[in-house]
Amino acid sequence: IEEHLRKSDTLSVVGQLAAGIAHEIRNPMTALKGFIQLLEDTMTDDHSMYFGVIKTELNRIDSIINEFLVLAKPQATKFLEKDIVQIMRETIELLRPQAVLHNVQFKLELKNDIPSIYCEPNQLKKVFINIIKNAIEVMSNGGFINISMKEESDYIYVSIQDEGEGIDAELLQKLGEPFYTTKEKGTGLGLMVSYRIIDEHKGKIEVESEEGKGTTFHIKLPIKSIS
Ligand code: ADP
Ligand code: MG
Repeated sequence: IEEHLRKSDTLSVVGQLAAGIAHEIRNPMTALKGFIQLLEDTMTDDHSMYFGVIKTELNRIDSIINEFLVLAKPQATKFLEKDIVQIMRETIELLRPQAVLHNVQFKLELKNDIPSIYCEPNQLKKVFINIIKNAIEVMSNGGFINISMKEESDYIYVSIQDEGEGIDAELLQKLGEPFYTTKEKGTGLGLMVSYRIIDEHKGKIEVESEEGKGTTFHIKLPIKSIS
């Protein structure tokens, strides 16, 4: 079993840079999409496949920019006291259609009473979505995703365990690096954004993986904000 502890010290610099670039790219992108749409309406059929490709690629740029903009969010502004179990349940419902498509079932286990936590609920949801989505995507033969939550000495521990192919030791080191992806249509930004968000919550993400067996993401979050 390979274990890896991730600290996200360097991410704030990357975040600032990303924010600037993302904002700059967004405006010309809007213009491009608008004019492509106009052109498409006047085009002959033989060119329509080119437009399909152009639109797919524009959408890809769009999703990269949107993920980057999460990094740009001002820190520690909208922290609220929220029920993290509720956030997890909403995430599961949101991803259930995708899970069904992949023959994946969820198991949610609450090991004890989980108190409310001081957090940015939408950001936390984003983390759960990213990690659970990755778990679904990696389980090509279906199976179970086990999600467990417990409270212990002022921390909430969330673990998300899949039965996918696992991650080898070398790749484990690269998790969370921007643009690191093994997927044809991946952006390689989901985990980077997730590490960043958990960092802002003064929490920690740890990944444990065994090749051929699966991967578990452990998320540790303080119940009260520690500043
Ligand atoms: P993307 O999903 O767009 O590739 P992510 O940042 O979400 O970007 O993930 C980066 C990479 O980490 C993935 O491409 C995959 O190789 C690896 N990864 C993430 N989660 C898992 C998992 N549960 N099992 C196996 N590999 C994973
Ligand atoms: Mg992903």
